[in-house]
Amino acid sequence: MFEQNKIRLEFPILGSSVNGNQLVYLDNAATTQKPLQVIHKISEYYENNNANVHRGVHFLSTKATNLYEDARRKLQQYINAKSSDEIVFCRGTTEAINLVANSFLRTRLNSGDEIIISAMEHHSNIVPWQIVANSVGATIKVIPINKQGELVIEDLPKLLCKKTKLVAVSHISNALGTINPIKKIIDICHAKNVPVLVDGAQATPHQLVNVTDLDCDFYAFSGHKMYGPTGIGVLFAKKEHLESMPPYQGGGEMIKMVSFTETEYNDIPYKFEAGTPNIAGAIGLGTAVEFLDDLGLEQIELYEKQLLEYLTAKISMLAGINIIGTAKQKTGILSFTLDNIHAHDVATILDDDGIAIRAGHHCAMPIMSYFNVAATSRISLSFYNTEEDVDKCISALQKVRKIFA
Ligand code: PMP
Repeated sequence: MFEQNKIRLEFPILGSSVNGNQLVYLDNAATTQKPLQVIHKISEYYENNNANVHRGVHFLSTKATNLYEDARRKLQQYINAKSSDEIVFCRGTTEAINLVANSFLRTRLNSGDEIIISAMEHHSNIVPWQIVANSVGATIKVIPINKQGELVIEDLPKLLCKKTKLVAVSHISNALGTINPIKKIIDICHAKNVPVLVDGAQATPHQLVNVTDLDCDFYAFSGHKMYGPTGIGVLFAKKEHLESMPPYQGGGEMIKMVSFTETEYNDIPYKFEAGTPNIAGAIGLGTAVEFLDDLGLEQIELYEKQLLEYLTAKISMLAGINIIGTAKQKTGILSFTLDNIHAHDVATILDDDGIAIRAGHHCAMPIMSYFNVAATSRISLSFYNTEEDVDKCISALQKVRKIFA
């Protein structure tokens, strides 16, 4: 099992104090902390290797290009894509989804067509589809959920029809922690020839993801949620889709030849990487996935599951707790309300003790409406969290109840 003390030393920020207490960081679904390996790799890049990529013949440019393309291969291996050409670097999940909405879908979508999403999506897997749908008069259909926060996937075949152009669904819900049966969903959609985009923002940090086995058409994720830097993420897309899609943005890098009358676009994936990319970010993310691979995704998943069980058992003993999201298959995310105390008050009082949790709608307002709450408090775990972190959080929640009694 994990040597927690050793792992925690890799994350210098975990040793810092907040309001006179040692930081207890339980907001990992928003963003994770960064290990020294990643931090060092980025500073080493700027100290020794910085140059623009793909353009120069000089020594440093070649070095930077090699590092950038190495990172692409590491990401390919991490999600088991067939080719590194299927890895498009972008800003994160949000940009990856917008890319698919504006390039893949816009060219295929007509008035009266339908896009299917689920009732537990993050706003970034709702709004881009709405924008494109509204521009042509298409509609959005929604896979419902039950009171445990699980998808009612028996309803999916009924929703799919000739007009369905895409299904976009999260692998894991950031607001509830539910792990969706994504392989099953993809199989159902493919049986009707409907392509599937998976929002993998909350999955890639916590479990093995194999896009070849899943056979998904698109898979989007963010570096900063998986121990890498902010401002970098990945769109995986099947080669045949990328080949058929028009560019999302125009500029340098994405061209082979430009004149005032026409442009010949570059090969994939460069066709979708207009302008100077986030070179240091990509290299840092490459190091983050090596770090995760070294720890072992199966070990991570097992440890975080046990810690979630510990947390769920402890928090359930508190009076006034209402857990939102009780699916059978869950990752280390626990949303709750406490009596009728506002989530922001809960999070503010915990912050006094140096405990960082999130309060709000978690960019998933439709799910809040479904559960009839304005906001929840959310604890989200990482492998660097310990039972001691959980205990401190529980004591602080007891304090919150006393204050409001
Ligand atoms: N989808 C899910 C499920 C998420 O949790 C998040 C981030 N909270 C996003 C999409 C958006 O990710 P980003 O802000 O990194 O683009």
